[in-house]
Amino acid sequence: MSTRTATDERAVVIGLEVHVQLETDTKIFCGCSTEPAEDEEPNTRTCPVCLGLPGALPVLNEGAVEAAVKIGKALEADIPERTDFHRKNYYYPDLPKNFQITQYDAPICADGELEVAVEDSRRTIGITRAHLEEDPGSLQHAGGSIDTADHTLVDYNRAGTPLVEIVTEPDFRSPAETRAFLAKLEEVLEYLGVFDATRDGSLRVDANISLVPGESVAGDGSIDDDALAAANRTEVKNISSHKGAEKALAYEVTRQRNALRRGRAVEQETRHWDESRGITVSMRSKEAEKDYRYFREADLPPLEVSDWRESIPIPELPDARRERFRAEYGLGAEAADKLTSRKAVADFYEDVADRFDPDLAATWVADNLLGELNYRDMAITDVDDRLEEFARLIELVDADDLTTKNAEEVVLRGMLDDGDDPDTIVEREGLGTADTGEVEAAVADAIDENPEAVDDYHDGDDGAINFLVGQVMQRTGGSADPGEVNALLRERLAE
Ligand code: ADP
Ligand code: ZN
Ligand code: MG
Repeated sequence: MSTRTATDERAVVIGLEVHVQLETDTKIFCGCSTEPAEDEEPNTRTCPVCLGLPGALPVLNEGAVEAAVKIGKALEADIPERTDFHRKNYYYPDLPKNFQITQYDAPICADGELEVAVEDSRRTIGITRAHLEEDPGSLQHAGGSIDTADHTLVDYNRAGTPLVEIVTEPDFRSPAETRAFLAKLEEVLEYLGVFDATRDGSLRVDANISLVPGESVAGDGSIDDDALAAANRTEVKNISSHKGAEKALAYEVTRQRNALRRGRAVEQETRHWDESRGITVSMRSKEAEKDYRYFREADLPPLEVSDWRESIPIPELPDARRERFRAEYGLGAEAADKLTSRKAVADFYEDVADRFDPDLAATWVADNLLGELNYRDMAITDVDDRLEEFARLIELVDADDLTTKNAEEVVLRGMLDDGDDPDTIVEREGLGTADTGEVEAAVADAIDENPEAVDDYHDGDDGAINFLVGQVMQRTGGSADPGEVNALLRERLAE
């Protein structure tokens, strides 16, 4: 048997370590703000604690613990009664204390899972653990990249920002699955209100990847632990988006396959994802856990969350809400998906579906509003202070005070492009629906003034009716209902 066949049968194994920036007002161990100001000066949101000055003592932020507990509950993880903090020791210029406060053998969440839809199948990804830690500062390499810069500046504004690091089991079998997982994870985090996806660097991913012999994959897709441990894996750092994860891992699959095919071993190492070049580059051989000399953080007492964790509620999550929307409002799968993937969209839909017709509300929110927003590269969060105005627009359509066509093409677009409210646009453009008398008169005029079209219609050319409908629509300034005009024309022409 040739080596080529053997290596071609290798299966892809991926596990992720996802760093999530928590939306708290202040940093995890001090009172410094986490809110970056626009055009902010470096090193302005700092204090003795986050600068690691001698004698400064950390005080744990309650809000960060609550956020971590919510994440644990959403991931169906175990939240032990007692958890504690450790120091992870290493030197790097963005880490002024020379150690990072993190969690080690007693993380706040362990043994959870997240279900993900990948194409037509559903996969359950195991969550090994999720722990709290502080973010280091950030480095700015003058001249662009770490390997070409002639000097580097350091900014400690980010130092001490609360993070939860979520570590998955090596349960992914393709790069596409990691992308679906990250999108789902973001949905859940956003529902929990602990995370802001629009913030730069709020989600950072390290991806571990190896190729294992096909024979070590069992019929149910599981892979035995010995094969996982034996496989040389690379850890790809610097991934900051769902798409980035998929691309970096696809690159890595090809690179590792090619190495094995040529009879070379895959080095166990840390690699850097170069987004602009679309390649991974070797950074260093992979460090081992023992290198970090973890020991207990004696400045922070162990944290008891036993009674507290019960009193921290979490909202209905996207999957449950999707199912409820289908049952309660009779929505199809696609509409329910679109309407629940962002919490703000789901809340808005629910508000208008309870006030008007649920189907009309679904068309307006899922298709029209989201479609027009998407076209303008905008999100629901860009207009969340104007939702009452959109509800008013749906109300006008629901009450037949505005035609669907005018509502879509004139009012909705005007609202987004010029920022006006619907009543102002309707008034200014004279878009109120025509009353019956007005439509009757326009129908009579259209018939009188277009004898040829009338003859064609009577000769059996059904297309002529569309021409006449157009004539009526023109005369009413688009404010008549085309279906009604069509019926009325046929009635009159039959007389
Ligand atoms: P380390 O101590 O080297 O960081 P961990 O056991 O903490 O290793 O695992 C880190 C990540 O590596 C986890 O996300 C895990 O799922 C993943 N992982 C473990 N084994 C493999 C493997 N054979 N291939 C790909 N990823 C793996
Ligand atoms: Zn501080
Ligand atoms: Mg690790």
